Amino acid sequence: MGSNHGCSANEIFEGQIHLYKHLYAHVLDSMSLKWMIELGIPDIIHNHHQPITLPELASTLQIPLTKVRGVQSLLRYLAHCGFLQIVRIHHHTEEKEAYALTAASQLLLKGSDLSLAPMVELLTKPHAVHAWSQLKKWTYEDDLTLFDVSLGSNLWDFLGKNPENNKLFNESMASDSQMMNLALRGCNWVFEGVESIVDVGGGTGTTARAICDAFPNVKCTVFDRPQVVENLSGTNNLRYVGGDMFESIPKADAVLLKLILHDWNDNDGKKILENCKEAISDKGKRGRVILIETVINEGQDEHGLTGLKLAMDVRMTCLLNGKERSEEEWKKLFMDAGFQSYKIYPLTGYLSLIEIYP
Ligand code: SAH
Repeated sequence: MGSNHGCSANEIFEGQIHLYKHLYAHVLDSMSLKWMIELGIPDIIHNHHQPITLPELASTLQIPLTKVRGVQSLLRYLAHCGFLQIVRIHHHTEEKEAYALTAASQLLLKGSDLSLAPMVELLTKPHAVHAWSQLKKWTYEDDLTLFDVSLGSNLWDFLGKNPENNKLFNESMASDSQMMNLALRGCNWVFEGVESIVDVGGGTGTTARAICDAFPNVKCTVFDRPQVVENLSGTNNLRYVGGDMFESIPKADAVLLKLILHDWNDNDGKKILENCKEAISDKGKRGRVILIETVINEGQDEHGLTGLKLAMDVRMTCLLNGKERSEEEWKKLFMDAGFQSYKIYPLTGYLSLIEIYP
C-alpha cells in the first residue's frame, strides 16, 4: 500500500469529494447564473405568475428537443444552489414538477429595482474570468495587480479607455447600491444635523438618490472620476462633480464612502481619509465621515458569510491591491489618518455602516 499520509481511506474519499466539489463548482456556479440571465429565465418565471414546468419553459424559449434534458440538468443544479425552488403543481388530475424563483433569483430579474443582473454580467465577462488564470504570474510580478497583469493597466485606466466596460462597471455598482433604498430607511440618526453630504466615488449617484429621497432636506454631491459623472445632470438637491479624491474632496457636513476604501491599500486609504477630514474640517460637531464597507469578523459571522468576505478580500487584494479589513485594521487606518473615534453598525447582510469622527 502507498502512503496515505496518516489518513484513512474514508478521509481520502471525503477529500476527493471536497476537492471535486470546488473544482466543478468553480466555473459552473457563476456561469450557470450567467446562462440563466442570458436566457431570461427569471423574467420568464416571473411573468408566468406561477411556477413553470420544464415543457412550458422549453416551449417559451424554443429549446431544441435534444437540449431539454441539458436545460433540466442546469435547472436542477441551480435549484440545488438555492436559485430556484422545485415545487409540485396540480394540473387537472396530474401532478407536475415546476420551478419557482427564490429570494436570490428574484435579484436576477432584469428590470426590477433591486436587480443584480448587471453584477453577474460584469463578473462573468471573459476578461474578468480570464484574469484569474494568471494568478501565478501575478505572484511574481513585484508591484503589478492582477488587472495590470491581465488587462495591461489598472482598472480605472482600463475603464477610462473602454466606454462600454465603464458603463457596465457603473451599472453593476449602481445595482449593488440599489439596496441602499432598503438599508438606509432605518438610519435617520445617521443624517441627524447633516445638511450637506458628498458621496465620494459615488458612481452614477444611486446611493445619493436614495439619500435625497429619504432625507429631502439633505443636499447631496456625487463626486467621482470625470469619465463617470460627465453628462449626468442633477436635481435641485443633487449635483455631480468630477475630480480626483487623491487631490481634494468638495466640502460638506458629512462625507460618504461606499465600497471605496476596500479598493485601496492602507497608504492610499490614509490619503483618501485625510482628504475627507479636510472636507469636513470647518463643520465642528456636525462633521463626520460615513463608510459603508465590509468588516471581517470571523469570530461572529457564520461560515458562509465569512467565506464571502474572504473571497472579496482575495478579489480586492489581487485585482486592485486593496483589501477587506477587520475592525482592528479599520481602527488602525482611522487613527493613522488622524481621526479620534468610530462606531460600527450593521447595515445589510454583508455591509456595515461605520461613522468616524475627527
Ligand atoms: N460608491 C459606489 C461605487 C464604488 S466603485 C457604489 O458603492 O456603488 C469605486 C468608485 O470609485 C468608482 O465609481 C470609481 O470611478 C471611483 N474612483 C476611483 N478612483 C477615483 C478617484 N481617484 N477619485 C474619485 N473617484 C474615484
